[in-house]
Amino acid sequence: MKRKTRKQLELEYDALYEKIDKLISETNPCEVTIKNKVAYCGSCSFRVCGDIIKPNELCCDKCPHHNMTTGCQADKPMNCKLWLCHQSKRKHPEVARQLFFLHEEANNLFGCLLHRGDKKETIDHIINMNMEALWVNA
Ligand code: SF4
Ligand code: SF4
Repeated sequence: MKRKTRKQLELEYDALYEKIDKLISETNPCEVTIKNKVAYCGSCSFRVCGDIIKPNELCCDKCPHHNMTTGCQADKPMNCKLWLCHQSKRKHPEVARQLFFLHEEANNLFGCLLHRGDKKETIDHIINMNMEALWVNA
C-alpha cells in the first residue's frame, strides 16, 4: 500500500462515505421510520445484535455516539454504514451485495475500519493500526 497523508485519507474517506451513504439513503435496508423524532428499525423484527432483545430498536444501543432522542451523533461513521444485521441482509440481498463490494473498497483503501467509530476516530485508528508504518500523520 502506498504512503498516504492524513489529508489523503480524509479525502478518500469522504468520497467512499458519500457512495455508501447514497446507497443506504436510497434503499433504506433497515426500513427506519421516525416517530416523535426517534428512529426505529423496521427491517428486523427484533434487535439481534445486542445483549437484550427489544422490539424495533436500532442496533446502536450502548454506543457512546447514540442519543436516545436525536439518534446517531457521529460524524460519518463508515463501519456502521457498511454493516447490516443478518436479518436485514436476507431481506435486502442486493443492498447487502453492493455493501460487500463497498466494504472491499474500504479494505483496499484503509486496511481496517473502527467499530462504531466516527471519521476522526476511524482515521486515527487506521494510522495507529498500520503495522508497517506506511501511513504518515501529516
Ligand atoms: S442493521 Fe439490523 S438491527 Fe440494525 S438497524 Fe438495521 S435492520 Fe435493525
Ligand atoms: S456510531 Fe454507529 S453504532 Fe454509534 S450511534 Fe452512530 S450508527 Fe449507531
